[in-house]
Amino acid sequence: MKKTAVVTGGAGGIGEAVCRRLSSDGYYVYVGYVSSKEKAERIAEEISGESLKLDVTSMADISDAARKIGFTNLLVNNAGISEIELFTCISEQKSREIIDTNLIGAMNCTRAFLPEMIKRKSGCIINISSMWGQVGASCEVDYSASKAGLIGFTKALAKETAPSGIRVNCVSPGFIMTEMNKCFSDEDLNLIREEIPLGIFGEPRHVADSVAFLASEYSEYITGQVLAVNGGMVI
Ligand code: NDP
Repeated sequence: MKKTAVVTGGAGGIGEAVCRRLSSDGYYVYVGYVSSKEKAERIAEEISGESLKLDVTSMADISDAARKIGFTNLLVNNAGISEIELFTCISEQKSREIIDTNLIGAMNCTRAFLPEMIKRKSGCIINISSMWGQVGASCEVDYSASKAGLIGFTKALAKETAPSGIRVNCVSPGFIMTEMNKCFSDEDLNLIREEIPLGIFGEPRHVADSVAFLASEYSEYITGQVLAVNGGMVI
């Protein structure tokens, strides 16, 4: 039987690359979406997987998905939102939305899929954090807090689930060219590029390759770790 993978936000820039890479590694992939239904359906069709309405802030969506899929070999908590704003200006509602999506959403999805993994003493969870979760970003304080929370969640859950044969790791991307970074001007982008020792922006495939590694047997002795994919921007 094929291994299965659930990827939240599977129709986004990084999510799509992750879905395609996991499919080429032999997974049957569930492409999670909220607003990008058509794109998710197209990706799913192209990789012979399945699109899945999975809003990580909706307990109904999460329960439906877990009930429908049952055991999954791999859960990739990739869904995320960001907002560039001073901490003193961001609304309480926006702040909650960021934490609810990026952190609580990943925790709730994991909580839903974990019992079947524990039952089978097998499974792998990969959380997509951010370099800002490691070092913090000015004007992205709430986002940084959510992503730092994901790192803490990864480490603690890795300890708790290791005796059940489940590995939990984190990928921490740097600056990856996706919709999320469309807000930056050419001038901003040039300044940011100068801060990247490897001299180029990351591409979604760079993150997908790291997810594939952490999901594979080549990382069977790795758990609770944060794999930074940032061109040397944060070392
Ligand atoms: P995109 O904006 O391209 O994709 C974000 C995805 O998140 C979309 O597919 C969207 O789904 C999904 N999403 C948003 N809200 C929800 C929700 N409530 N429930 C489920 N899915 C949701 O961004 P990226 O691909 O760049 O980001 C992917 C992840 O990588 C995020 O967690 C982000 O924080 C992280 N990251 C990105 C970096 C970058 O430089 N791009 C750097 C570091 C981390 P839909 O389109 O269906 O609404």
